[in-house]
Amino acid sequence: MCGIIGITSNKPVITNIISSLKKLEYRGYDSAGIATLAKNFIDEVKCEGRVTKLEKICSKKSIEGIIGIGHVRWATHGVPNEVNAHPHSSENVSVVHNGIIENSTLLKKYLEKRGYIFKSQTDTEVITHLLSEFLKKNKLVAAIQKTLAKLHGSYALGILIKNHPDIIIGARRGSPLAVGYGHNENYLGSDSYALKAMTNRVSYLEDGDICIVKKDQVDFYNSNGKKINKKILELSDKNEEYQKGDFQTFMQKEIFEQPQTVKACINEYVDTLRDEINIYNLPWNLKEVKSICLIGCGTAYHACMMAKNWIENLTDIDVVTEIASEFRYKKNNFKKDNLYIFVSQSGETADTFAALELCKKNKMKTLGVVNVVESSIARSSNFVLPIHCGSEIGVASTKAFLGQMLVLYIFALQIGFLQKKLKKNDYKSKIKLLKKLPELIKKTMSVEADVQIIAKTFADSKGSMFLGRGLSYPIAMEGALKLKELCYVHAEGYPAGEMKHGPLALIEDGMPVVILAPRDKHYDKTLSNMQEVIARGAKVLLISNKGKEEISSDNLWKKILVENCSDELLPFLITLPLQMLALHAAKYKGYDIDKPRNLAKSVTVE
Ligand code: GLU
Repeated sequence: MCGIIGITSNKPVITNIISSLKKLEYRGYDSAGIATLAKNFIDEVKCEGRVTKLEKICSKKSIEGIIGIGHVRWATHGVPNEVNAHPHSSENVSVVHNGIIENSTLLKKYLEKRGYIFKSQTDTEVITHLLSEFLKKNKLVAAIQKTLAKLHGSYALGILIKNHPDIIIGARRGSPLAVGYGHNENYLGSDSYALKAMTNRVSYLEDGDICIVKKDQVDFYNSNGKKINKKILELSDKNEEYQKGDFQTFMQKEIFEQPQTVKACINEYVDTLRDEINIYNLPWNLKEVKSICLIGCGTAYHACMMAKNWIENLTDIDVVTEIASEFRYKKNNFKKDNLYIFVSQSGETADTFAALELCKKNKMKTLGVVNVVESSIARSSNFVLPIHCGSEIGVASTKAFLGQMLVLYIFALQIGFLQKKLKKNDYKSKIKLLKKLPELIKKTMSVEADVQIIAKTFADSKGSMFLGRGLSYPIAMEGALKLKELCYVHAEGYPAGEMKHGPLALIEDGMPVVILAPRDKHYDKTLSNMQEVIARGAKVLLISNKGKEEISSDNLWKKILVENCSDELLPFLITLPLQMLALHAAKYKGYDIDKPRNLAKSVTVE
């Protein structure tokens, strides 16, 4: 995943590089490093771990370079240590890289034969030496092109060259890269978020593009080496800073922000006076869509699973869900009345983006559901529905999940209505109920105190299960994923009715099991499944919604009740205690909640 920054200026760049790296840390935090060019010398500082550590090391040195590159790493090749941290420099060339060079083993052999000595275990170091080799006999642009032509796989690159002391080179294939324009300085960055504190004027590189960034000029070349012009986009909120406020972690803040983010999203898509949905200008006629394929990874995939249920319930359309990393390599039957929906918080998820590119190549209708509107998926899709939930910093997604589900639910209502499957009165009454959702989410937040006590048992367990039927099944999957991501304990999400076909064998005395049994049409069946696990010794936490009848059962360990609402909207509410459960279990363990081990926020490698 990794974050890249480059700055060329007329004043020392170290402070701005460090503060940009802090912003990019959501993309990787295994190690951090910088290289600046000063007095005909590449000065490299790297360390294992976080940017604050790098900052401390840098503060003890005098780093005067007015041109520099920086990197935060999410290791793919080679353990996360100082040597493997980027930049990877030779005497003349210094490289930061986001992506994977798939033929690095072969290239390494070739370069070793030519006398190059490798210091790291990374795939990236081959780029440093290849470019050094090609620079011996070629002019700059040709040397870069020849280097890139040798690389298989994906990259976004930031490169410093000692013999060209006024430029930073950028190149992209498969991983995102942007250029920012300032006053007497220009920038290279993995995303506009890292650049926003410095500028709101950016251009994006497309696959195959190369850029040469000087402090007062930027030149772009396409994959054929032809000079090209780029549109300069003006971004909103130049100085938007997202702070933790009174919360200890971003994740907790993001959980508690959900009443506002859901409200903001509803206000974007719903005419709250007329109770109608405002999705206009779709580039295709929704009535003609015969089937929908929803594609995502991780949490976004769970949002796809939810949407499948809603769209099938509210329309006549056939819906399938696909995990992006599988979809992109399998045989697909592309048909012209298919609509493909790509769900990704960052809009940069490498597998989802590759799936989108594949659909575009096959001339399919494409729709992006993203949080970051300047992202690659947003820019590449035929149409975009942003989830409007603001920056999400916690690596484990919370408010973006609710946002993705919300947008997809609204979209499902819209198709149902346009296809006349949903009568006008039903459509309007569903919208009326939807408008109440932010308030219900807010009220449900009061379950936190109980969840906090329960979480200790999950933190101490060696494994747990999350079970649900129908609309609660994707939520069970998401609840288990949250616990795995944050608390590093095994957790499995499963359809409650499937337990007896195998996983029931896992249940043993004292094993914590979450049963999601909102009072919908599956309620009785799910309660029976609950009895089956209780009978085998499980400690059951039942999550349901408030209702007239008291829920009681012998040997039920704990019960959490969310607010009451329509069956279709219950998934939003039952998600909340699961987010809190993972958060508090990780707190008990003393783990880093916003940056869980081995993960990163924006998954830009496949
Ligand atoms: N493959 C490079 C490394 O392991 C970059 C990783 C990335 O972009 O996540 O250092």
